[in-house]
Amino acid sequence: MKKACIVTIGDEILIGQVLDTNSRHLAIALEEIGLHVCRMLSIGDRADEIESTLTRELAQNDVVITTGGLGPTKDDITKGVLARLTGSKSLVRHPGQLEKVHSILQSRGLDVLPINLAQADVPDTAEVLVNQLGTAPIMIFRNVKGGGTLYSLPGVPHEAVGAIPSVLEDIRQHQQLSSILHRNIMVYGIAESALSERIASWEDALPEEMHLAYLPNPLTGIRLRLSCYGGDPEEERKKMEARMEQLKSILGPLVYADEDSNLETQLGKLLKQHSLTVSCAESCTGGEIAHLFTSVPGSSAYFLGSVTSYAICVKEKVLGVPSQTIEKFGVVSSEVAAAMAEGVRKLTGSDYSVATTGLAGPGGDEFNPEGTVWVGVATPRHTVTVKYNYKNDRLRNIERFAASALNFLRLQILEEI
Ligand code: ATP
Ligand code: MG
Repeated sequence: MKKACIVTIGDEILIGQVLDTNSRHLAIALEEIGLHVCRMLSIGDRADEIESTLTRELAQNDVVITTGGLGPTKDDITKGVLARLTGSKSLVRHPGQLEKVHSILQSRGLDVLPINLAQADVPDTAEVLVNQLGTAPIMIFRNVKGGGTLYSLPGVPHEAVGAIPSVLEDIRQHQQLSSILHRNIMVYGIAESALSERIASWEDALPEEMHLAYLPNPLTGIRLRLSCYGGDPEEERKKMEARMEQLKSILGPLVYADEDSNLETQLGKLLKQHSLTVSCAESCTGGEIAHLFTSVPGSSAYFLGSVTSYAICVKEKVLGVPSQTIEKFGVVSSEVAAAMAEGVRKLTGSDYSVATTGLAGPGGDEFNPEGTVWVGVATPRHTVTVKYNYKNDRLRNIERFAASALNFLRLQILEEI
């Protein structure tokens, strides 16, 4: 497999002021086309460091991609180093990029200074892809010192991301990439270790060219990604499909999507498909569930509304939770979760409702440890509750509570439709 290295250039990354998001976007894109990213490096705006890093990486990789350090200011020195590294004799002003510099500065109502014009200057050893979103050009240096090809991209995140399609296109044209296929399913409600045990024999039986990756996330559960390297794409696609069918039948309702997705999107599809509506009553999740529901476009078709009933008086006055229930069982209890779900279902007239009451932390109480949540779901048939316990910090717990509540709701709906 062809190999790549990503190098980000800029002191601001090294001092922790800026988080390197460019590498992540590049790595995702390169992986998709079957170029193996075997190293990611961050270095400062220092000529000797840039030169030695690039010399080494170009000798070891087919492709090296840098971002940053192309700006008009004195601290951006990458271009000069690249000129030296590639034995460039002079700088040439690139007409396409020059036009961009003019149009961008004009549209912002700024004067064009000599320092801006110099942005369109490139070493005579470079090929240029015009940066449509900024003033710094995207430069390509092929077979540097008999080694790999270097792509130099601007550092501004939307410009770096915007450059990806044309860079991929160029890589595809110039590198013999072996085929790579990916196929995802989404799983919720099982720990990674238990999941790996459950599917161990299936995984062991995978052919050599296929590889399974576990990609966990607190809000979306575990994404299982099956990848296939090499071979005839059509043949391999069929083989992967057969393996995926086996996997889905082993996991049953733990699988909530047959693609890379999230719980709120899938739940939305389910509700829409069956013309059902939903509402929620949230204590410890403080609106997170409502936020997840409403982040899906078109959710107005099924999401009626929510009550953030954080205080006991709101649970009682708005949702009608009886004060005796709270006194007798405590506010974090199955009974209160059930009464909250029933209360909001009645209030909004929705078909289904989901409620949470728990302790996100820090600190628990005498009955419940930190990270405990009771989830209640009221349906046209009955009301059911479940308790979960997580051991994360407050914000992570809230995410897990919300995702578990959505998943519990999903399972109830699946049982009833
Ligand atoms: P420009 O020509 O627009 O000046 P540039 O190529 O010189 O771009 P830099 O000056 O290094 O890029 O960075 C521009 C902006 O992008 C800065 O705000 C910087 O913090 C940010 N940035 C640089 N590298 C990264 C990165 N790897 N991830 C996220 N942000 C970055
Ligand atoms: Mg910089």
